[in-house]
Amino acid sequence: MDAVADDELFDTDFASRIPGAAHLCGHDMHTAIGVGIAQVLARLREQLNGRIVFVFQPAEETLEGARATIEDGILERTSPQEVYALHCGPFPVGTFAVMPGFGLPGQDHFQVELTGPDAVTDAKRLVALADGWSTVEYPRTPEQFRRLLEDIQIPDGPLARFVVAQPQLTSRDDGALVRVWLRAWPDSRYTEIRNATQSTADSLTSARVDFTKEPFPAMVCSPELSETAATYLHDTLGDGAVLVLHAAFPFNGEDFALFLRDVPGAMFFLGVANPEAGINGAPHTPDFAADERALGIGVRAMAGFLSSRLTALSGPHHHSPGPTDRHP
Ligand SMILES: [Zn+2]
Repeated sequence: MDAVADDELFDTDFASRIPGAAHLCGHDMHTAIGVGIAQVLARLREQLNGRIVFVFQPAEETLEGARATIEDGILERTSPQEVYALHCGPFPVGTFAVMPGFGLPGQDHFQVELTGPDAVTDAKRLVALADGWSTVEYPRTPEQFRRLLEDIQIPDGPLARFVVAQPQLTSRDDGALVRVWLRAWPDSRYTEIRNATQSTADSLTSARVDFTKEPFPAMVCSPELSETAATYLHDTLGDGAVLVLHAAFPFNGEDFALFLRDVPGAMFFLGVANPEAGINGAPHTPDFAADERALGIGVRAMAGFLSSRLTALSGPHHHSPGPTDRHP
């Protein structure tokens, strides 16, 4: 269920056997937890008030799998009333992070072709413009990373809005090419940045902007269902087990965004970090590792939460709704 393009750093018995493909995002954990939840709920199926469908979606890393799965008709076939996802996160093992109204940013990518004698000078102006959009930098030290994790928990804090812009200039025989990668919150920032790029390009004699694709949308979790989950997790796991994020982590995206565009729901981060044991729990870092106690914690908490949602949705006056029943 997905790999990250890198080599495994640690010699574990579950390490990838394919050179250049590594378990650096925890998808092996997610798969194991999903199977575990299914096993638990299958044993309890007589007591469940409804139906739970498990979706094992590939190609999350390339942001292609959710679209393909939805286009294959998963939502029409199953008519979910709510949809949930769990992903490893760099929070202490034993904790969950919920993101009411937040989630993970979308992304945009476009390029500007410049020709003529001023091409390189103009390209440098565009690169400077794009650099100026960035409001946050990737953390380079453990201290900066710790600060970032604090900042995303502050309501209306420094990361409530952000832009991460990565421009790249390539010289060519006949001019220059500027490519720009962007992550931003909220999605309206992409429109503003595209407009600013277009008007700057229009002021240059020989620049041509190529916006071939629409920006990929942000993943935005339902505020209500995230709060409901926070209450459940707090009541069952106790004080300190639930972190509430009030901003999106700026450097990763998530194509579960497309499920959440169609169906109310939420993603939760499952804490897998254990700094004392040297386990950073930070997906997409070369030394990513996860505290495996999170497997059992994730299975128990999500099996309980999902069955609680079935009970809430079936309501006091309904008996065993069929799979296609939809409540107003
Ligand atoms: Zn990943």
